[in-house]
Amino acid sequence: MPVPLAPYPTPPAPYTPANNPQSQLVCLGCRNLLLYPAGASSVCCAVCNAVTAVPPPGTEMAQLVCGGCHTLLMYIRGATSVQCSCCHTVNLALEANQLAHVNCGNCRMLLMYQYGARSVKCAVCNFVNSIGASTSTIEQKFGA
Ligand SMILES: [Zn+2]
Ligand SMILES: [Zn+2]
Ligand SMILES: [Zn+2]
Repeated sequence: MPVPLAPYPTPPAPYTPANNPQSQLVCLGCRNLLLYPAGASSVCCAVCNAVTAVPPPGTEMAQLVCGGCHTLLMYIRGATSVQCSCCHTVNLALEANQLAHVNCGNCRMLLMYQYGARSVKCAVCNFVNSIGASTSTIEQKFGA
């Protein structure tokens, strides 16, 4: 029985880039997730034929899952709460990827970082700024 040649490991599937030209929104009629080409002003759902208006360009949409009925909800980024159109649960939109700001402790450059980050490195002077360490009253060490 011939020994099969070990194949080269297959390269991992390319990660879908975030800047792909298709956008998505949730159908107002049937709550299906619809894909539409960038630039479209409205999308006609193939499932229920409802026409869903596309938010104006520049509007950053975010998504969350309703805590009441687990429907995927879309909302304009920056909103603090989203009311579900299915079960009317009001969901807090405190998403993990909100951006926060800090001034570099070394060169005072205004830096943006993802909310929840523990530290942010200054792109100008490479100074590593600890987030919350200077302003937080919470001890970093628990117990002792
Ligand atoms: Zn639909
Ligand atoms: Zn809901
Ligand atoms: Zn700096």
